[in-house]
Amino acid sequence: MNNEHKTRVAFTIVTLTTAAIIFFTVRRMRRRKQRESPSSSCYSHSEPKPQSAFKRVLADNSYAPFKHLSFNASKNNGNGSSLHPFQAEITALLQNHQPEIELGAEKLEMNDSYVWVDTEMQLKKLVNVLSKEKFFGVDTEQHSLRSFLGFTGLVQISTQQEDYLIDTIALHDSMEILRPVFADPSICKVFHGADNDVLWLQRDFHIYVVNLFDTSKACEVLSKPQKSLAYLLETYCGVNTNKLLQREDWRQRPLSAEMVHYARTDAHYLLYIANCLIDELKQLDNENSCSDDKFHFVLEASRRSNMICLQLFTKEIEASPGESAALSLYSRHQSNRASPSISNETQFLSIVRQLCTWRDLMARIHDESLKYVLSDQAIVALASRLPASNSEIYNSIVQTDVNAETGLSSSIPSPSPVVCSHLTDICHLLANKLVNHGDIYSVILQKCLGQNGNCKLNISNYALLVNCNVRPTLSSKRSSLKNPRQHSKKASRNLFVKKFSCKSPVYHNCRIFANDGRLLCYCDRKKLEWYLSRDLAKVVDEEPPAIMLLFEPKGRPEDEGNDFYIQSKKNICVGCGEGNHYLRYRIIPSCYRIHFPEHLKSHRSHDIVLLCVDCHEAAHAAAEKYKRKVASEFGIPLYVRRVIHPGQETEKPNDEGGVSPLQLRSAAVALLRHGPRMPHDRREELTEIIKTYYGGREISKEDLEKALQVGMTPHERRKFEKKRGVSSKHSTGSASAVPYEGNDTDYAPGMSNGDTLKVDTLDGSYVNEETRSGDNRQDDSGKPSLASDLAVDKATSNGNTIVVKTTDHDDDETSYSLVDTDESLNKMQPNVVSDEESIKDEDTTQAKHHSKLSLLGHGPHGKQVVDHLLKEYGEDGIREFCQRWRQVFVDALKPRFLPGGWDVKHRI
Ligand code: AMP
Ligand code: MN
Ligand code: ZN
Repeated sequence: MNNEHKTRVAFTIVTLTTAAIIFFTVRRMRRRKQRESPSSSCYSHSEPKPQSAFKRVLADNSYAPFKHLSFNASKNNGNGSSLHPFQAEITALLQNHQPEIELGAEKLEMNDSYVWVDTEMQLKKLVNVLSKEKFFGVDTEQHSLRSFLGFTGLVQISTQQEDYLIDTIALHDSMEILRPVFADPSICKVFHGADNDVLWLQRDFHIYVVNLFDTSKACEVLSKPQKSLAYLLETYCGVNTNKLLQREDWRQRPLSAEMVHYARTDAHYLLYIANCLIDELKQLDNENSCSDDKFHFVLEASRRSNMICLQLFTKEIEASPGESAALSLYSRHQSNRASPSISNETQFLSIVRQLCTWRDLMARIHDESLKYVLSDQAIVALASRLPASNSEIYNSIVQTDVNAETGLSSSIPSPSPVVCSHLTDICHLLANKLVNHGDIYSVILQKCLGQNGNCKLNISNYALLVNCNVRPTLSSKRSSLKNPRQHSKKASRNLFVKKFSCKSPVYHNCRIFANDGRLLCYCDRKKLEWYLSRDLAKVVDEEPPAIMLLFEPKGRPEDEGNDFYIQSKKNICVGCGEGNHYLRYRIIPSCYRIHFPEHLKSHRSHDIVLLCVDCHEAAHAAAEKYKRKVASEFGIPLYVRRVIHPGQETEKPNDEGGVSPLQLRSAAVALLRHGPRMPHDRREELTEIIKTYYGGREISKEDLEKALQVGMTPHERRKFEKKRGVSSKHSTGSASAVPYEGNDTDYAPGMSNGDTLKVDTLDGSYVNEETRSGDNRQDDSGKPSLASDLAVDKATSNGNTIVVKTTDHDDDETSYSLVDTDESLNKMQPNVVSDEESIKDEDTTQAKHHSKLSLLGHGPHGKQVVDHLLKEYGEDGIREFCQRWRQVFVDALKPRFLPGGWDVKHRI
């Protein structure tokens, strides 16, 4: 009993302990997973920022150049970037030799009343007031710590009657209402030190100042001992101002009374000060009027002011992001380092560079300033000490920043939330693991903004993905030009990319809304124009454009409930995010899809995605591999095994006759082209293949010529004939049409041309004839390099082998009505069509055009597989088959940029 009790207790303890261990282990694993789980780990998901409410951001954080206002395309040569939109107006002001600057402003004390403008209505009222003024004073306040490019937090406008404080955060998307008054040459805008304000107004609102009087320029012309606003305020108005307030956080709402006072003071007295200065300028002009030296003071102050207006905001774009910061950091701290060795030094600089690149990109992604992300001194400390763990990195940064703290910078948390959210990346970077992945830029971008990225996608960083065609070059990116062969490989790849990638964005992302405001679809510009030109819609947004239908559409999107089709699609590779170039990729290989029952073919874009060349190659290779698996699983070979020449059947009815069409073609090609120069044995070997086709009889040059075309569809043959410049009607049997020994590689099929880029056509839609003709492939796609004609009389499935009897006649009726897998010919130059149409499968159209089956591709295999599936499993078999292909695609690429709503289980 006692023993039994003991056993029971022991058992209970063991059970409980085991349970506890399991519980804590699982919990720890979950926690770790949570910590590592990327989706929510970045602070950017939980920290709201005022700029995230902005609907439109003119200057995004991408490396793409800033786009200026181009309301008048002809004026700007349509590109809107190089010329100032008000060049003519400003030039006219500069050329005016007698500017009448007559302000007549009186000094007014600042009372308690001012107008806080934070609604569109109030802003319109203000515009109404300003448009009647001859001049008004302007100043702006910026916020720059928690933003990459900074943004305007407040615009102060003062007339003789009133001070207006415009809440440019609340009104960020409405500020354009002010454009006309700022561009009106008949209204003089008075600023103090307008250089920055003018650019900031362009950057945030496309507001351009025309007709400016800058009181600091007047100070210059007057040779004042100082030209600060504080000095002028004190000298002319007896007002003291605390300029430290300019560093306040101007995002804060409501503004403190002190800040309101400061902000008003900066604009309120401008008109009066300008008036005083103009009087002085005029006085100097009068004094000098009789002297020989004709310096015109008013004119000069006005000229210098309006010169400021001609400035255009630009983003500072370095060839290599963070490079200049890295170099200046390096040179500043180099001297402090104790007798470094050369190798240490190289490593130090390399780490500093990488950290600066990382910081630059992180600041852009999180819309933070560089100094907020990571201080200069912290970069130096990290690069010198190379801390190896997350906590060491953390401590290193804290220590350095505490030591360097200078009172004001204490408002910046150290380490910043950006660093805390991405400590592991820094750790990898310091251990030199991040670059080993290749391109540090893409690695970071994908980790942060990729489909399962850590960080929040927002209006400012979105363009980093979309505009990655303007991604910078990176110093840390190692050159892959190790030898000339690799060089030529790279060059041909570049050429290839240039030639076959989509020439313009596939998705225009124009939106169509229903009249109840629901998003109906995304489409191209043409479609928008169609509705607009018929007055069937109105424009509701500009970039990207959107329209709202003015009538109730007949039907809603058939895929209602599935937001995939009403998603904005990015023109980037869904695999890696590359935006430089992309090609369409068909996830379900066409050799199968073409044979699906019509209603099971999705004509939508779900299974056609954009891929860059590298991902395309990877996906395609995986698909080809899987095709071979399908072939063995179903016992249906990929290629037609044997073709038998007409007449042969009766003579040799056994299974031994015939030859693979691909083999036949290659042999014919080789013999025609190199026959006479070939080693004897090889020639015999190839001749034997041709003979097999012809039932063993001796063959002529003409036979070779015919063999060349066996297996081609009429379409392929026509292309072939066209290339040869011979009408297909007369070509058959005309041996002279094919030069026996020529250098003409233009048409010669299957000429192996060593260095020619090996490209694959199947599903790929990216190969054109030139590429194909130089490519002797019997590989994966098995596509013919050239077209010919083959009428298939009979095709029988004989176990694992398909035997086909061929005829020579073009116009023979065919027993098959099939089409080959290759659609590339139709898509050499992808056109800009609707977002849906551009991507939808064109198999159907193809099928109508060609009625004969090529035996050189996977067409017959595809047909048999689909027939088999339908017979055995019905339509569910097809659906399940599609899912398998999507899974193959996902497994091969681990795509990170698939549009939301894309699903392996997608049902047509
Ligand atoms: P102000 O018109 O002089 O008030 O300056 C306009 C804006 O420029 C301020 O809101 C600040 O964002 C920025 N700014 C000007 N000078 C400094 C400075 N010394 N330090 C930080 N920010 C400044
Ligand atoms: Mn100010
Ligand atoms: Zn992040």
